[in-house]
Amino acid sequence: MKERMNELVQLLNRYAKEYYTKDSPSVSDAEYDRLYRELAELEERYPQDVLPDSPTHRVGGPVLEGFEKYTHEYPLFSLQDAFSREELGAFDQRVKTEFPQAEYLAELKIDGLSISLTYVDGILQVGATRGDGTVGENITENLKRVQDIPLHLPQPINLTVRGECYLPKVSFENINAERRENGEPEFANPRNAAAGTLRQLDTRIVAKRRLATFIYQEAGPTAAESQEAVLESFAKLGFTVNPRHMVSSSMDDIWQFIETVAKERSQLDYDIDGIVIKVNSLAMQEELGFTVKAPRWAIAYKFPAEEKEAEILSVDWTVGRTGVVTPTANLTPVQLAGTTVSRATLHNVDYIADKDIRIGDTVVVYKAGDIIPAVLHVVKSKRHQQEAMPIPNLCPSCQSGLIHFEDEVALRCVNPRCPAQLKEKLIHFASRNAMNIAGLGPAIVEKLFAADLIHDVADIYQLSTENLMQLEGIKEKSAAKLYKAIQASKENSAEKLLFGLGIRHVGSKVSRLLLEKFDNIPQLAAADFDEIAAIDGLGTVIAQSLKTYFATSGAQKLLTELQASGLNLAYLGKRVSDDAALSGLTVVLTGKLEKLTRSQAKEKLQNLGANVAGSVSKKTSLVVAGSDAGSKLEKARNLGIEIKDEAWLESL
Ligand code: NAD
Repeated sequence: MKERMNELVQLLNRYAKEYYTKDSPSVSDAEYDRLYRELAELEERYPQDVLPDSPTHRVGGPVLEGFEKYTHEYPLFSLQDAFSREELGAFDQRVKTEFPQAEYLAELKIDGLSISLTYVDGILQVGATRGDGTVGENITENLKRVQDIPLHLPQPINLTVRGECYLPKVSFENINAERRENGEPEFANPRNAAAGTLRQLDTRIVAKRRLATFIYQEAGPTAAESQEAVLESFAKLGFTVNPRHMVSSSMDDIWQFIETVAKERSQLDYDIDGIVIKVNSLAMQEELGFTVKAPRWAIAYKFPAEEKEAEILSVDWTVGRTGVVTPTANLTPVQLAGTTVSRATLHNVDYIADKDIRIGDTVVVYKAGDIIPAVLHVVKSKRHQQEAMPIPNLCPSCQSGLIHFEDEVALRCVNPRCPAQLKEKLIHFASRNAMNIAGLGPAIVEKLFAADLIHDVADIYQLSTENLMQLEGIKEKSAAKLYKAIQASKENSAEKLLFGLGIRHVGSKVSRLLLEKFDNIPQLAAADFDEIAAIDGLGTVIAQSLKTYFATSGAQKLLTELQASGLNLAYLGKRVSDDAALSGLTVVLTGKLEKLTRSQAKEKLQNLGANVAGSVSKKTSLVVAGSDAGSKLEKARNLGIEIKDEAWLESL
């Protein structure tokens, strides 16, 4: 037994490290929980053999290098787990023995990352991760970029709150799609993506990824009497509180709530992995106290794992817009999280090699963040004589040789005329954030290719209404509409075109930054490597990618053709860069200014990137006050908002 305990401790500690510090787990939560339970049961039977580094005695993981450490004034805890109604019954009994009248509050268990926010005089001072419960990472600057975290509270109070920071499912999908195209490893689930994002040293990436929070607990002594009252007070202070919770003293009611939420879970736009049940009275909570790592007054019911075994029948390899070749397994159909799953992503060649996945294998399939099914691991005991997975060395679309770049996890087709890539490129070119050609979706692109009417993006502008009417199912009216949309796109500001070209690492925001600086695409194409790399926020990788792209004869020809078709290549947008001094800040003007008129001051602030608002609220970042300022100034002072004068504005 001692040996098994030792083995479990080592294994769990390795998994915890992968999960907490690398944000890249190699087993599912369910697998981790199974092993953890096995260890906990053995430790109960053989307490003399409990190892000092057992995960049952520790919360979370160690603090990452690169961030300042932050010692929590009040430690953060884990939660006791329950996996069945019986276990909830046992918890209920333990509580009711001490407090027969106890009421519970049931909340959603958000699958994100624990955070702690400390406010001093109503102003956010420190935002930190849980870390090992006592010492976390100071990630204040990153948390300030999370939109729904108030920077100021409406009252100048001292307060520390705890909550969960998470990534909405749709943002997760977008991030992974981008990572796939860039040949980067994908995040296993939204929780890991959120944790990885908050541990970014670059705050701009954090701002881009649209994290959000639910706040659920106050640290330290509180004036409130119940958990329910705490949640109400949080909502009044401007925190986001999850609206789904219920209070009851009956576990039967709570079980019903669990069942209802479990059914609706896949429709939520964030992940939950269970329901947390807390004793509602804070006085009772205090009496019940804590075990070594979790409160005795709460329990987390965890939903059954969405994992199933299936057999891999075959593998499809498809080529994306940037040439990345992605493997997808065709499976014997299984029911998973309410849907029939018959395909699962195998991510990339490195993933297949790491997990040694073969056709004919029985594998464990799970829904990553309840969305895309993925293969977790092979059930080796069910393997017969399968041969290693055949990895293509030719592109499945154009048959040219595939390349596995050293710094990438994926295979790539580098043929610029590969038809599969061209179709994907066209779909991207016409998409909303790019040229925004309504009606030019995947089905029409497919038909245009089949009819041999287009071969690359330049051909789109050679199409006539008559050409479009040749396509099956396209009548005169829709052909005219699509033609009009194509013509209208010629007038777009050039950052849409630049993004539409699909150059590696050049997303829509980067495109705007580049054209704000270089005015038009020909000047950008002629720019020096150093000039591009020097733009704040871009750097050498983007500069290299642009130089490589514009040096190809294909790119030069394409630009000449687009220009000849009458496309606008110049930047027509506003010139406010993200690096402007006041970028992202909300500023309020009040009082009488001496040198500038109100509208001049407003324009100057806007040119510096500020959003100028008419009234002061807790969302206000700073106030510029002239003479005779009245109630706005007073309100700003009450909220603890920074106040600046006209001379400061002039100095910018
Ligand atoms: P936990 O996730 O089981 O529960 C505690 C956490 O729940 C709290 O710290 C808090 O962050 C969160 N939470 C969410 N909503 C909440 C709410 N409404 N009220 C209170 N807390 C709420 O415990 P843990 O210690 O954070 O992590 C252990 C779990 O992490 C394991 O059970 C496993 O699922 C997962 N894990 C997985 C691996 C892996 O390799 N896959 C490794 C380590 C841990």
